[in-house]
Amino acid sequence: MREWRCIGCGGPLQNTDKDAPFYTPKPYEDDVPMYCERCYKIRHYGQIKPSFVSESVILETLKSIEERPGIMVLIVDGLDFFGSMHPFFNELSVLKRTLLIVNKMDVIPKSVNRAHLKANYAAYAKKSGLHVEEILLVSAAKKSAIDEMVETIRLLSNGQDVFLMGVSNVGKSSLLNALLASFDGINNRVTTSFEANITQGLIPFKLKSYTLYDTPGFAFKGSYRYYLSGESLRKVMPLKEIKQRVYQQLSHRVFYLAGLFYIAFDASSDATMITYFAPTLTIHHRKTGDEMAFYLDKIGDFLNPPALTDPKVPVVKTTVHHDGTPIDLHVPGLGFMTLRHVETFQMAHYASVKPVLTEVLI
Ligand code: GDP
Repeated sequence: MREWRCIGCGGPLQNTDKDAPFYTPKPYEDDVPMYCERCYKIRHYGQIKPSFVSESVILETLKSIEERPGIMVLIVDGLDFFGSMHPFFNELSVLKRTLLIVNKMDVIPKSVNRAHLKANYAAYAKKSGLHVEEILLVSAAKKSAIDEMVETIRLLSNGQDVFLMGVSNVGKSSLLNALLASFDGINNRVTTSFEANITQGLIPFKLKSYTLYDTPGFAFKGSYRYYLSGESLRKVMPLKEIKQRVYQQLSHRVFYLAGLFYIAFDASSDATMITYFAPTLTIHHRKTGDEMAFYLDKIGDFLNPPALTDPKVPVVKTTVHHDGTPIDLHVPGLGFMTLRHVETFQMAHYASVKPVLTEVLI
């Protein structure tokens, strides 16, 4: 059977599923160039929506990026660095010059020194095994440092292809919109000629001095966001500057981050915990003793999200010993907390979501 392809992204056009990639409401006609609805909207209205493609297309796309020359522009979420860090990016950063864009700076408290933040993100990148050439702190929502981002990409690419990458929800589409808006004329936003054999998931944008490829955002199993959907997902992602919450007298107390994670403290008289999470994420605390039983009993009830419709996954319990110096505990997908004067604590988390201990960020 003959296959019609979108002249914007090269994907195989289909008329049947409005929510699936490469949909077009128009009937196919021989010799009539056609766009899929997504490319049509980009071309005519400048709207970019995150693309959703199957796992096999993602793998094929990632593989093809590995083989093509060019630079990687990796977007991460500033509040959720470790939830943004898929191991694939480490491999790719060894092969390609990498610019790290830390987005959503508007949610990080303004009082935090930006140079200090940047140095810490550099340390996080190193800890994750990511090789980066340069780091920029930006906010797609506030349009801050967008010009600097555009200029840095241009200089670093030096005419080579640019691959824009990031896991879902880090703000890749928002930044791509901001970036393209800085170029003249929305008609330049999508290539008008179909590149033969282009990988489905790669969407090319021919810009003045280089071609930018948008790549499919994909969920990362090492983040709580992978397991949440709809309203649950919205509850864990802050929309504006977060306010820290301070807790003292932690001795024999357990703190539940909704129904996703808990941390339980042993006797530690002057311990404090400062949390940096979305204000809509419920933090419930009580005396230790039956923390796992309580967790299993109340999960999906008032320890929510997950909502009852979200999948339930295996939980593991770990014990951590520390020397009491200030330390940050990152909970991928949610945010982080600073612990002071804490020596021993237990935590329970989804088996695939590994909390990370780092130097203090703020
Ligand atoms: P993508 O999945 O990586 O393409 O991310 P989107 O651009 O669709 O954004 C995911 C969510 O993050 C949306 O709710 C955006 O409104 C939000 N978002 C994107 N950029 C920013 C930002 O700079 N600050 C804040 N606070 N939210 C952002």
